[in-house]
Amino acid sequence: MPNNKDYYNILGVAKDASQDEIKSAYRTLAKKYHPDLHPNDANCSHKFKEVNEAYETLGDANKRSNYDQFGTADPNARFGGFGGNGNPFGEGFGNGGSFGGFDDIFDMFSSFGGRTKSRQSGVQIPGEDIVINLNLTFKEAVSGCEKTFKVNKVEKCDKCHGTGAKNGTEYETCPDCHGTGQVRYTQNTIFGQVSSIGACKTCNATGKVVKEKCPNCGGKGTIKSLQEITVKIPAGIDNNQTITMRDKGNASIKNGPNGNLIINVSVSSHPILERDGFNLLLDLPIPFTTAYLGGNVKIPTADGTYVLALPALTQPNTVFKLKGRGIKVLQKESYGDLIVTVRVEMPKEYSKIDKELIQKLEENISGSSYKKFKEFQDKLKRL
Ligand SMILES: [Zn+2]
Ligand SMILES: [Zn+2]
Repeated sequence: MPNNKDYYNILGVAKDASQDEIKSAYRTLAKKYHPDLHPNDANCSHKFKEVNEAYETLGDANKRSNYDQFGTADPNARFGGFGGNGNPFGEGFGNGGSFGGFDDIFDMFSSFGGRTKSRQSGVQIPGEDIVINLNLTFKEAVSGCEKTFKVNKVEKCDKCHGTGAKNGTEYETCPDCHGTGQVRYTQNTIFGQVSSIGACKTCNATGKVVKEKCPNCGGKGTIKSLQEITVKIPAGIDNNQTITMRDKGNASIKNGPNGNLIINVSVSSHPILERDGFNLLLDLPIPFTTAYLGGNVKIPTADGTYVLALPALTQPNTVFKLKGRGIKVLQKESYGDLIVTVRVEMPKEYSKIDKELIQKLEENISGSSYKKFKEFQDKLKRL
């Protein structure tokens, strides 16, 4: 049952003291009143006990939050009056859902006498996930990067530790349900008036209402704030992939874990290269003279350029596979390939001199140099 000891007063800290401040105050006082230092002093021994009791509650964030709300560290104490059958509302509530506030009841207290043995295993509703879209350039995606952006998220109000009560001020009995957390609803239906017992909406079935609302959060226990988030983008991430940052989403309204922050990644396309998994595809146009003579051709890679040495007499549509010049495989120390397909291009116009030179070239190259052309001519002759 609630006790009236003021643990904050015992430790000499403010109601909104940080856990570190509480710890440090406890250490100082525990040393001061330690029985070893005052062997026959009953007053010191009593103080030492009190200090330990206070720290046992305030030193534990969960117990502290419960103490702040209900004046006790024991989450079950409030339900002592219900006779401990585990379900103070009787059978009708077993499956929940039909009454708006029902889920919130478990959410609020995390644990019911008899229903769950410990706070940790109680029903908790996690905070909502936040989903955002993040645009990356092609280079950022293949090389990896760090991105900082702002997210508007729900945070637990640190002024009232999520209780909604100003400086942890007292609660008073709900005037609508007189502290029972339940009220009788009457509904007009075709069968006449039907009355049912449901969760009290005024107090969210807690039986208590805040005396004075926390000015920082307006009594909600949470506040919205613009937060700067930095995320490491792994090299190799692709368009439409997502990154989940655990616990970085909205705070739970009461007691549950935070939601996640889900980042949907959009990657802009490369002006020349096409991505195929971790391989890169390149259609490389070259002049027909380069195909004939061979030569060095500059090509783009995932993160720069590369000079490809084309051999003389490179045939159209030849495929060159440049091992390891593709994209870094996500979470691995290996890379895809750069696959180059040569597209031989004929000129679309020529000068008089060009034409004469090509005519000379045609006379010089023997017909047998063209394997397919020669086969074709031979077949034609036999027709
Ligand atoms: Zn009420
Ligand atoms: Zn607050």
